Amino acid sequence: MIIVKTREEIELMRQSALVVSKTLGMLAKEVKPGVTTNQLDKLAEDFIRSQGAIPGFLGLYDCPSTLLCSVNEAVVHGLPTDRPLEEGDIVSIDCGAIMNDFYGDHAYTFEIGDVAPETKKLLQTTKESLYVGIREFKLGNRVGDVGYAIQKYCEDQGYGVVRELVGHGLGKKMHEDPEMPNYGKRGRGKKFLEGQVVAIEPMINLGTQKIKQLKDGWTIVTRDGKPSAHFEHDVAIIDGKPEILSTFAYVYDALGIESNEEDEFRQKALSL
Ligand code: MG
Ligand code: MG
Repeated sequence: MIIVKTREEIELMRQSALVVSKTLGMLAKEVKPGVTTNQLDKLAEDFIRSQGAIPGFLGLYDCPSTLLCSVNEAVVHGLPTDRPLEEGDIVSIDCGAIMNDFYGDHAYTFEIGDVAPETKKLLQTTKESLYVGIREFKLGNRVGDVGYAIQKYCEDQGYGVVRELVGHGLGKKMHEDPEMPNYGKRGRGKKFLEGQVVAIEPMINLGTQKIKQLKDGWTIVTRDGKPSAHFEHDVAIIDGKPEILSTFAYVYDALGIESNEEDEFRQKALSL
């Protein structure tokens, strides 16, 4: 059952999302060669608590960490480790926070120094596909419209779209209805509703779409060992249109990136 939110609840969810956005922005300054994902995890936990929020992943489904850090061929659900990040790596950092009883859940894939051009293009395309999908999250559309749009955008460029892991409804639970696959058929699946909030999160592979889980019981990697990218936003339907509650603005501030890609999905200016 889809749990729709009131305007007031959506504003509370924006606060939860922004705690995660700020955490990713703080981490953006720290993600560099030599740093370990365990170090990033500690920084993130301290930062989230300093904001009056609670780490959203820690303890959920017995997750041992605040962050899920998926390096290179890891798709998602990578557990933090003591391996230092190296020049040329990529790392998807997925982070959750609970504030006002609502979850924020949001992810960005970072480049460590200079990465291979084909990997850079994978990241760019995956991020573009996130916005392509968000554009379809509106009244009159269905779950399959978002999935179709993301799948087509990525497969047309030769990438593998992961099937086994999907986006989801978001609220007082991390995973609410409906599941939001990154593949699908136009006009199929549940209808979208005013006040609905979902996490849209394309997981896109440079090579095969096929994945496997490592023996740690968490980390999902590509079967061919090629890199995978992951970007995630929390999005509400307000006045029939998609409104992104999270933002990459803090990451861009930290990295010196100019971007207007979120502008079309904001009905009011975001005060950072
Ligand atoms: Mg996430
Ligand atoms: Mg998610």
